[in-house]
Amino acid sequence: MPSEDTLITLPKTEIPRSWYNVLPDLPEPLEPYLTPSGEAVKPEQLAAIFPASLIEQELSPRRLFDIPVPVAEALARYRPTPLQRAAGLEKALGVRSRIYFKNESVSPSGSHKSNTALAQAHFNREAGIRRLATETGAGQWGTALSIAGCAFGLEIRVYMVRVSLEQKPYRKTVMNLMGAEVLSSPSDLTAAGRRAKAENPRTLGSLGLAISEAVEDAASRSDTNYSLGSVLNHVILHQTVIGQEIKKQLSLAGVSPDYLIACHGGGSNFGGMAAPFVPEIKDGARIALIAAEPESCPTLTRGRFAHDHGDVAGLTPLLPMYTLGKDFQPPAIHAGGLRYHGASPIVSSLVKSGMVKPLAVGGADLFRYAALFARTEFIIPAPESAHALAAACLKALELEQAGTPGTIVFVLSGHGLLDLSAFESFIDTY
Ligand SMILES: *Cc1c(COP(=O)(O)O)cnc(C)c1O
Repeated sequence: MPSEDTLITLPKTEIPRSWYNVLPDLPEPLEPYLTPSGEAVKPEQLAAIFPASLIEQELSPRRLFDIPVPVAEALARYRPTPLQRAAGLEKALGVRSRIYFKNESVSPSGSHKSNTALAQAHFNREAGIRRLATETGAGQWGTALSIAGCAFGLEIRVYMVRVSLEQKPYRKTVMNLMGAEVLSSPSDLTAAGRRAKAENPRTLGSLGLAISEAVEDAASRSDTNYSLGSVLNHVILHQTVIGQEIKKQLSLAGVSPDYLIACHGGGSNFGGMAAPFVPEIKDGARIALIAAEPESCPTLTRGRFAHDHGDVAGLTPLLPMYTLGKDFQPPAIHAGGLRYHGASPIVSSLVKSGMVKPLAVGGADLFRYAALFARTEFIIPAPESAHALAAACLKALELEQAGTPGTIVFVLSGHGLLDLSAFESFIDTY
């Protein structure tokens, strides 16, 4: 008999009804976003690129926001997502700890990014916007927004970081198939893109630069808004369906978690997992929150806490966050979604106050554990998610050595079926 907690599913009626806003519950209040001259950003200054509803979600101290019916219906196509026990992985590792993973790879885009893409498309559509401009690093965000564009009738233009476009041409095919326009960033269509190309014609691009291009596009057209797949408070708000469902599923299985782990690029899947647990941790629950980031782009472990721009051109407000500097050029690692110089202000605040522990992982471990997971759980993890998976394996092994097995939950933020080139280069080493 398989154990009862192998696959913990929830009925559709258990999809969260509201998003949880962690802002009023942060251990330290979030510092304001600043303009380049050092004043606090006013909501109306964001109105050139975001609808009022999302600006309210970004800045409001309200704890709960109802999920509008059209968004709930769109989410219900794939939510609640399963929480699965990785019993095969536990056995292969030889550990007594229980390892669970929240499987966000079952969304239409193959990653958690659909959770916010659908919400953002809805709120923009409600505000009378016709077109969205965005950037994509690895391609998952562009894919998620392209699908959301289909769901809510919006035109989508995606500035895709050049190195990712070259590594993952099939992502562009998917976006095009969904009716979106995809440009290699830096492009010739924006001042930021032309400047970057003039400075270095062979530039591989970066997420920060692609953001500059998309923001410039949106700010220059009244029918167009900008849409960001990570970092900002409203994005983390939409992702709290992840943590809320995990809570219900763990209580259904009758277990309490000791470690909650997710990878960290801009902070949205991590923040969405962690935020709903913040109140109980403040009340004394002993749950460790671990943010796994790549060694090659170590924003949380090696960056400094400062107000910095979210993009290279300096068009975005200055956000209070851990940053490697807006001009940091991360190497062309396969986990494209984790190549970002900054971090979410919410996650940065949680790291600064000591509630979240960042951990840098990398090297051969990553792909070894990804292959082990594929062979024991039969899911190929996204290279980004492999960081969370590796952190979970390392924690389980550490607990085994210490003789103190526990319960570990990690977020499988996406599958890697469109990232096979990443695995190809390591295949001989498994
Ligand atoms: C984009 C992405 C990430 C990183 O983004 P976060 O905002 O940090 O969650 C991680 N995993 C997958 C599969 C992604 O697509």
